[in-house]
Amino acid sequence: MKIYNTLSKRKEEFVPLEPGKVKMYVCGPTVYNLIHIGNARPMIVFDTVRRYFEYKGYEVNFVSNFTDVDDKIIKRANEEGVEAGIISERYIAECRKDMQGMNVKPATTHPQATNEIDGMIAMINTLIEKGHAYAAADGTVYFRTRSFQEYGKLSHKNLDDLQSGMRALLVSGEEQKEDPLDFVLWKPKKENEPYWRSPWCDGRPGWHIECSVMSKRYLGDEIDIHAGGEDLIFPHHENEIAQSEAANGKTFARYWMHNAFLNIDNKKMSKSAGNFFTVRDISEKYDLQVLRYFMLSAQYRTPLNFSAELMEAAKNGLERIVTCAHNLTYLMEHASTQNGASSEEREYLQGAQQYRTRFEEAMDDDFNTADAISVVFELVKYINSHVDGGSSGEFLKALYDLLYQLTDVLGLIVDKKEEMLDEEIERLIAERQTARKEKNFARADEIRNALLEKGIVLEDTREGVKWKRA
Ligand code: AMP
Ligand code: ZN
Repeated sequence: MKIYNTLSKRKEEFVPLEPGKVKMYVCGPTVYNLIHIGNARPMIVFDTVRRYFEYKGYEVNFVSNFTDVDDKIIKRANEEGVEAGIISERYIAECRKDMQGMNVKPATTHPQATNEIDGMIAMINTLIEKGHAYAAADGTVYFRTRSFQEYGKLSHKNLDDLQSGMRALLVSGEEQKEDPLDFVLWKPKKENEPYWRSPWCDGRPGWHIECSVMSKRYLGDEIDIHAGGEDLIFPHHENEIAQSEAANGKTFARYWMHNAFLNIDNKKMSKSAGNFFTVRDISEKYDLQVLRYFMLSAQYRTPLNFSAELMEAAKNGLERIVTCAHNLTYLMEHASTQNGASSEEREYLQGAQQYRTRFEEAMDDDFNTADAISVVFELVKYINSHVDGGSSGEFLKALYDLLYQLTDVLGLIVDKKEEMLDEEIERLIAERQTARKEKNFARADEIRNALLEKGIVLEDTREGVKWKRA
């Protein structure tokens, strides 16, 4: 498997730290509002990366944070006259709903910055002890950027160039820095802001330190992959490397992956310019599976343009795949023979394997989901031209499994069960009651299982049978 590594600016063969395991950290959203479709790109892309590793048999420890203390959250909380925690908890819950709609798996761990303050204080202490950080007179703690020899290795920036660009940009209140390149690890509280006790002052952490600390806590000092949108390369990820490697004395992450940006109608997404959509906005018009398909229709390092036409194309594309899966399901249920595959069918199955091979080739090449989707399309065409009412159950099932496995790597749901209507459920429950009265337990169980398969769970209570959708 080849992964483009921002560190080396090359595609490199993926070699895990530990055989069969992947430790991966993805910078998550700042939760002050509903997530926008730009935020959805890294979520979908890196969820797909995770799914592909899992498909290949790796055990993936996937950590993605919620940044729940930040200027924007505090501003919003003050506007609404509530605590910052109310805002962040509300938007974490909303974000989880959107993730579910996009079929993004929950991370192994979703840490929140405000639960990790002790770890941040500990790492800042280590950095001070090792001479990589210092507290200024007002209690602000800065990272001494020039003390980390390799600063700039990720963003391929040179310290002196950076310094000349920064002279004009000295932020007020930061005059106590030893060097304009130094960045904040801890800052004093301001009025109406949440704060924590620390050895330096009552205050709150800088943004970069949270990811260094959460990655260390949940994945260890060295990890395989660290990822996020390309805007995070500098300064966020560059600073994370400096903090983690200076504190831990080990290489922080071996592979750095960054997705390109999503634009709208070829312009930068911007609220003030009016070209801005939340994932929730999109969900009013489309199933979020369509958004997922759209995001994966480009390789993740290619800028992606969002437009109404492209979403319509995505909708049609997805529909073709889903229709093929439904068609296979229908044929399986009505297959004229449950016999094994005929010798001709076996040959066709052999022929279908090339789609798996080509799908894997595309994904092995730095997760080229654009090519992978094209291969799925070819598979759909192949299936449509080789199945009919006379196909055997075994043949249909093998094709379905292949289609299912490949689309599942992309996180596209093809087997959405049609929801049963309430009346239909009630009718079956009544029939089951009758069967039980007549001691026809086989039929009663059959009905229970049939309902279960449709996601309907029955519960026998004293007041009678209750049901709920699982
Ligand atoms: P933020 O909440 O701004 O920290 O962003 C969360 C994640 O979304 C980060 O990985 C960003 O790089 C990513 N992101 C933000 N805007 C876009 C965009 N327009 N296109 C792609 N990724 C984005
Ligand atoms: Zn981060």
